[in-house]
Amino acid sequence: MNFNDFPAEPFRIKCVEPVKMISRKEREEVIRKAGFNTFLIDSEDVYIDLLTDSGTNAMSDKQWGGMMQGDEAYAGSKNFHHLDATVKELFGFKHMVPTHQGRGAENLLSQIAIKPGQYVPGNMYFTTTRYHQERNGGIFVDIIRDEAHDASLNMLFKGNIDLAKLQKLIDEKGADAIAYVCLAVTVNLAGGQPVSMKNMREVRELTSKHGIKVFFDATRCVENAYFIKEQEPGYENKTIQEIVHEMFSYADGCTMSGKKDCLVNIGGFLCMNDDELFQDAKELVVVYEGMPSYGGMAGRDMEAMAIGLKESMQYEYIEHRIKQVRYLGERLLEAGVPIIEPIGGHAVFLDARRFCPHLSQEEFPAQSLAANIYVETGVRSMERGIVSAGRDKVTHENHKPKLETVRLTIPRRVYTYKHMDVVADGIINLFKHKEDIKGLRFVYEPKQLRFFTARFEQI
Ligand SMILES: *Cc1c(COP(=O)(O)O)cnc(C)c1O
Repeated sequence: MNFNDFPAEPFRIKCVEPVKMISRKEREEVIRKAGFNTFLIDSEDVYIDLLTDSGTNAMSDKQWGGMMQGDEAYAGSKNFHHLDATVKELFGFKHMVPTHQGRGAENLLSQIAIKPGQYVPGNMYFTTTRYHQERNGGIFVDIIRDEAHDASLNMLFKGNIDLAKLQKLIDEKGADAIAYVCLAVTVNLAGGQPVSMKNMREVRELTSKHGIKVFFDATRCVENAYFIKEQEPGYENKTIQEIVHEMFSYADGCTMSGKKDCLVNIGGFLCMNDDELFQDAKELVVVYEGMPSYGGMAGRDMEAMAIGLKESMQYEYIEHRIKQVRYLGERLLEAGVPIIEPIGGHAVFLDARRFCPHLSQEEFPAQSLAANIYVETGVRSMERGIVSAGRDKVTHENHKPKLETVRLTIPRRVYTYKHMDVVADGIINLFKHKEDIKGLRFVYEPKQLRFFTARFEQI
């Protein structure tokens, strides 16, 4: 590992939030009280918070300036027009509907675009995305390439759709039985793995032949664009903005969680080209979110999001972002800690199957590993494995994903390389006595999206 490969922070800090580490004894008490679920730990008890990169972004001075320019009119806020114009310019879609966050957009899209019994193929599931699809009668079908389910395979564009799987679904069920293809860029649960431009183009060609729509989960589209620039021939001299624009030219619309690549703390939107769908979305947004000119956001939030979306496309920003994540991953790899390869865009995923080979999947190895990391280091991470995958709607059996992981998610523009060293050193230390990590069992299992509030005890 060569330290020169990693650029210094392309910003300087003008506002700080002190953090402190509580003692190991206190952390043991905290995790027990939290039912061994890192979602139930108070922020104040966390030293370095890698639970999620969702809404944990640091905003720029320009964004904070924008916050003071909120036009809080109930209808027709000028910040809405700024956001609307920015999204249309950068993404190239015809229509935009604001929502309070990503799942607000997923709710609207699932309601207007899925008929009960229709299939919704996608490149691996995302928790809230699949939930809304299923709630509206959709049947999720995983059409990501097989390699994405193998944590140890290091290859480019591991998030690609397997076109043969999509073709097979069309042949077997017919194009009318498919609501739309949901294409995520990058694929969160596969480890933040990107999709190539070639794959997006091919998905577009295949679906066009059959009149099937394609909606992107655009949540991490800027991170995906960086990987295309870095790794796909023909794109090395294109700007991030040009790449993002081309990506969306292969879609009929997208859902977006602004809490990720828009560099804000709250917000989201839904885009589409179809006029009728837009009409439907506008009728529904008033039921769930608010007027079509604010969709659950304050004027100031829309302003910050418009500015943040532009900032996220600056090369220096996104290069540092991706490489800081890579730095943490490479430090762990160097010490033999098993992680998903290649290192993705927003997080390093520990492979809990290889980290805790002494635990079966039903003993929730990733859930327990996340709890143990907290006790060992004061660092908060999250389970992405059998607990997050939930149960089958029909059989009520646990979904048993091949990937049993702990996600160390890096907030944007928040931590330094030294913080990454503290995380790496702590986890490398835990790896040396990994046999001490015990299995868990449920003491409380919520019916929906159980990982958020479930409680466990040690076996
Ligand atoms: C976060 C996320 C969502 C949901 O967005 P929220 O803003 O949390 O509602 C959807 N898809 C992906 C890939 C995400 O990472």
